[in-house]
Amino acid sequence: MLHSIYRHIAVTLCGLFATLSANSSEPILTDTHRFTEIRDNIWLAQTTEPVFNSNALVIINEDDVVLIDSHVTPNKARQLIESIKVLTSNPITTLINSHHHWDHAHGNQVFADIPIIGHEFTYMRLATTPLEEPTYVRGLEGNASGLVRIQGQIDAEQDPEQKKDLQEYLAIFSAHVNDFDEIDPIPPTITMNDRMTLFRGDREMQIIFLGRAHTGGDLAVYFPDSKVVFTGDMAFAGPSFLGDGYVDEWPQTLRNLAKLDFDIFVPGHGGPVTDLSRLELVALYYEDLWEKSEALHHAGVPYEQAAKTIDLTNHTEIPIRNIGADPLAIERIYYRLENPD
Ligand SMILES: [Zn+2]
Repeated sequence: MLHSIYRHIAVTLCGLFATLSANSSEPILTDTHRFTEIRDNIWLAQTTEPVFNSNALVIINEDDVVLIDSHVTPNKARQLIESIKVLTSNPITTLINSHHHWDHAHGNQVFADIPIIGHEFTYMRLATTPLEEPTYVRGLEGNASGLVRIQGQIDAEQDPEQKKDLQEYLAIFSAHVNDFDEIDPIPPTITMNDRMTLFRGDREMQIIFLGRAHTGGDLAVYFPDSKVVFTGDMAFAGPSFLGDGYVDEWPQTLRNLAKLDFDIFVPGHGGPVTDLSRLELVALYYEDLWEKSEALHHAGVPYEQAAKTIDLTNHTEIPIRNIGADPLAIERIYYRLENPD
């Protein structure tokens, strides 16, 4: 479910990013990664395999490299480390976790010998039972159903060329699924609550908690001299995954983000965003989603039904074209209404 949702988000947002992207230089490709320089030796790192993964940010400083997010598996993390050698011989000295979700943090164990910085909430989630997190369990279910789906497509395919392509895709997907076997998540080794600043060479990196949003511990990493922010899954050009979210507090968090002085942000999936007006559009969407969900909850409508009938099509610029919303989002909002903290 999460897999398909994220794929949907990625596909939806990629369309937007095609027009919003501000990249001027050509990406650098390795066997496994595409590196796109955002600005001032700050690089967006994305795997080129057609499997679900998150962005990482590679910050090359005078004497070291700071990395944000460790990818979806230890194997993908090792591939990232190898690929970074194409960009620089500087050592990776620090990893920052933007949040605890598996697709951003389950490569952590590969970085066991360097400091890992994360919010206290992220520590709590990764230090307790990360393999039982609902988002991760859904990810595993997505892997299993993906294998069945691709095999079914192969069985049904009549065209030999198409069948061969699907078999190659199945081989890539199967290898990726097998990579999950070695996952043994480790938590951050340095925790923070509100703010921490790293000075490396002449670069200043502000690691900031702007409020609860996509999770209880989202960290933004702000580069004031470059006017760049890495937002993880807290901010996209459109809505994020809301299943672990604090939709009631999220609009304020986005407005706190918007107060920083920057002109480009890099989210946890997809390309960079330069149209900062998207932040307020999404904040207004979350406010409306919360209020309408609250009304349906108050009226005693079960969340499954509410997810089918809620009307957010007034948000034409997001764009929301159809009646309804992600049931996981409404379920989460109902949970927050019944369990405020
Ligand atoms: Zn996430």
